[in-house]
Amino acid sequence: KFISLEGSEGVGKTTAINELCQYLDAKGIRYVRTREPGGSAFAEKLRALLLDPDTAINVDTELLLMFAARADHLHQTILPALDAGVWVVCDRFLDSTLAYQGYGREHGDDAILKKIAALSEHFVPRLPDMTLWLDLDVQIGMERAAKRSAKDRFEALEIAFFERVRAGFATQAAANPDRIHRIDASGAPDDVLAQMVAVLGV
Ligand code: C5P
Ligand code: MG
Repeated sequence: KFISLEGSEGVGKTTAINELCQYLDAKGIRYVRTREPGGSAFAEKLRALLLDPDTAINVDTELLLMFAARADHLHQTILPALDAGVWVVCDRFLDSTLAYQGYGREHGDDAILKKIAALSEHFVPRLPDMTLWLDLDVQIGMERAAKRSAKDRFEALEIAFFERVRAGFATQAAANPDRIHRIDASGAPDDVLAQMVAVLGV
């Protein structure tokens, strides 16, 4: 199984993945835990460039680097794990590109959505079987995220950006109801875990 976790800033994605992985360990389910951008040696180098708060990148460059990182990640990490019969638990995947580059950066304009669709068609041979979208009020998420010390290039953006990101995830979820499952991220970690486990059926 290929599982991705998605969500905007401060929704508790890292905690949720930690909890889920502990749960899978206890169940004896073998998995590879990975993340985007990153998840392979070369893609992690691209991650450092992409998240560097001191670097300005235009949206096309950002988009292409996200897909370059994803291609390496798929071929080096995700596809080999799935071929070996191991689960993949991925912190962000294609839906983040739609939400951040598509809706956050470019307001869901037709042109950017077409670019993302074209790149996906040619360079993303495998989608997650299941996507857990951790959803939370944007203001609450930003307050949680503000408590972290180091900020990446995206975390310094304004609230309207993250409202668009959230709307982007909601649009994606509505369009892919069989794959994307909304998780209410407002509760305690064990409540979030219980919802994820119920959706995964493990
Ligand atoms: O830990 P987190 O998943 O939040 O870190 C990844 C960072 O990369 C986030 O700031 C996220 O907003 C950004 N990102 C992005 N576009 C993607 C994937 C991640 O802007 N396609
Ligand atoms: Mg972040």
